[in-house]
Amino acid sequence: MNDGARTTVSIYEEFGVEPIINAVGWVTRLGGYVMDDVVISAMAQAAKHSVDMTELQAAASKVISEITGAEAGLVTSGAAAGLLLATAACVTGADPSKMARLPETEGMRNTVIVPRSHRNLYDHAVRTAGVRLIEVGLSDRFSGAGNRDCEPWEIEAAITKDTAAILYVATPWARPSLDQVVEIGRRRGVPVIVDAAAQLPPATNLQAFIAAGADLVAFSGGKAIGGPQSSGILCGRRDLIEAAALQMLDLDVVDELWLPPKQYIDRSGIHGVPPHGIGRPCKVGKEEIVGLLVALRQFVKRDEKDAVEAWSGLTRELHAQVEGIAGCTVRIATSKWGADVLELTFPGDDAGKRAAAVARELQTGKPAIVADLSKLYEGVIRINPYCLRPEQVRIIAGRLRRIVN
Ligand SMILES: *Cc1c(COP(=O)(O)O)cnc(C)c1O
Repeated sequence: MNDGARTTVSIYEEFGVEPIINAVGWVTRLGGYVMDDVVISAMAQAAKHSVDMTELQAAASKVISEITGAEAGLVTSGAAAGLLLATAACVTGADPSKMARLPETEGMRNTVIVPRSHRNLYDHAVRTAGVRLIEVGLSDRFSGAGNRDCEPWEIEAAITKDTAAILYVATPWARPSLDQVVEIGRRRGVPVIVDAAAQLPPATNLQAFIAAGADLVAFSGGKAIGGPQSSGILCGRRDLIEAAALQMLDLDVVDELWLPPKQYIDRSGIHGVPPHGIGRPCKVGKEEIVGLLVALRQFVKRDEKDAVEAWSGLTRELHAQVEGIAGCTVRIATSKWGADVLELTFPGDDAGKRAAAVARELQTGKPAIVADLSKLYEGVIRINPYCLRPEQVRIIAGRLRRIVN
């Protein structure tokens, strides 16, 4: 699955950086997922020729439409860039004079409604477009005070003439349901933007949020899809994708020779060549666009059960090698992406501290082993298999047996 990684070690050595053993998964701070040789080769081929970037994005749009069921699509430099571009599109539409003014949004629709329980560190990307977030609902079920979260009527009551969009962060536990939010958005003419960055697998989610009626959906390309780390997908309504593309593409062209493919960008509805937009710093290269498309096609073609089984196999092997270790309880759990993961649970009142100390030793050893600390405060360290190579299982087991006793 990740044979490419072995050949890239020497290039890191050349720069004095030692690759880590990634027991977290396709997270950005550890470089995202590893890429398949087919994707790497496609990027290398793409790098050798010049192309018109608007034409390439128009071609990407067709592939993304086929796979997601959306009217149109855009390859972005990540899901966060997709959120910025989606918001900018909802604020300006296809109006170049509004595009030119961002992030100043006075006099435009410049607020975005978000259920308070959906707030997260990535929504800075939404605010970057120049909008203010309007939080609604009280997530009592998370504070422990009760069962309620944001109610649909709270979203509807917050809509004003300034509302540019509703932001919805998709998770299996998100409330209200996307159906309820889309129903309000449709009825009140407010687009719904879905952050679905990490909702893959299952691959069926590539279509699910569009099918539910979301106007724009953002996915990461560098997480489970296995595309370039700095890639993502924004898909959805044709007019909004057009407005998003216009605010990312480099448009250093003379009016007479601005000839974008009509099915992607319809000049007749745009009163001049837009300036470089708020998304211009989020540019994607031709290599990333091609790499993302090839990775996306592979991702939807593969047998998901086989992939989950291969990951689970690594976890079972690791479990067999560390079972009976003193100092913590070892068990197999299921991760949110379906595969088995190993959980080390530490005992005692200071379990969190002990878990942190072990994680620190793993990480500061050689090679560094970076573990999943999402349950650290329950005294649990997780070893996720998603980015592990088979030969790394033995290294992790050896280190754990040495450290935890
Ligand atoms: C990872 C993530 C992002 C950012 O995705 P990038 O592709 O790295 O830009 C945004 N939102 C959520 C919920 C994420 O998990």
